[in-house]
Order: sequence, then structure tokens, then C-alpha cells
Amino acid sequence: MAEDCVFCGIVTGDIPGRIVKETDHAIAFLDANPLAAGHTLVIPKRHYARLNDVPGDEAAELFGAVHELAATIEDATDADAVSIGINDGEAAGQEVPHTHVHLVPRFEGDGGGP
Ligand code: 5GP
Ligand code: ZN
Repeated sequence: MAEDCVFCGIVTGDIPGRIVKETDHAIAFLDANPLAAGHTLVIPKRHYARLNDVPGDEAAELFGAVHELAATIEDATDADAVSIGINDGEAAGQEVPHTHVHLVPRFEGDGGGP
């Protein structure tokens, strides 16, 4: 856990989060400022700044959760599609330095997305 990391705070429960899925090494919760209703973030429970810092087994578990949630979120929000993305590094727009995968429900002609 990293001090002053909001996502570590959600993992420990010190910061409230609307958790939608949890496994041994990954957790998914709703984005506080969603691009669309149901916008979800999936993170490793351990603090890693960048995707490449995540050990392979934990990355496999992380993307296993992404794989499952992509269908679940599309169904639950009645979306037409889902945008799945990572801002990996500050220059790519990463604001929270605890690596995370965005899943954003998308609709025909919405013109939005990550
Ligand atoms: P980034 O720009 O780093 O790829 O995305 C960070 C995301 O984290 C943003 O979509 C932002 O709304 C979300 N976020 C930032 N702080 C919090 C928080 O305290 N709780 C939750 N649930 N989401 C947060
Ligand atoms: Zn963290």
C-alpha cells in the first residue's frame, strides 16, 4: 500500500468505493467522475504505478476481471459497446499513480469515451 494513494485507500476501505467485483489480487469499483453511467475502474490490489510494474500472475488476474466485466457492464448498462483503456504514464494522461483499467459503456453516436 502506498500512503496518500486514493486507490490503495479504496482497497483498504479507508476511502469509500462502490465495489463491483473483487478477487484475491484485483478489485473493480465505479469511477467517481464517470464518463458514462457504469464507468468502472479495475486495479491490482497492490500498489503498482505502471502496468509494466505488475507481476505477470497479478496482471493475468487483473485482465481476467476486465474480460468478465466487459460483458457484465455492457449488459447491466444496456450499452452498445465498451471502451477499455489504460492511461499508462503521466504523458498518457494518467492522473492516479496506481495503475488502472477503464471500462466505459458506449452508445451509438455518443461521441465520448476515454
Ligand atoms: P486516469 O486519468 O488516471 O486514467 O484516471 C483516473 C480516474 O480515477 C478518473 O476517471 C477519476 O474520475 C477517477 N478517480 C479519481 N479519484 C477517485 C476516487 O477517489 N474514487 C473513485 N472511485 N474514482 C476516482
Ligand atoms: Zn495505490
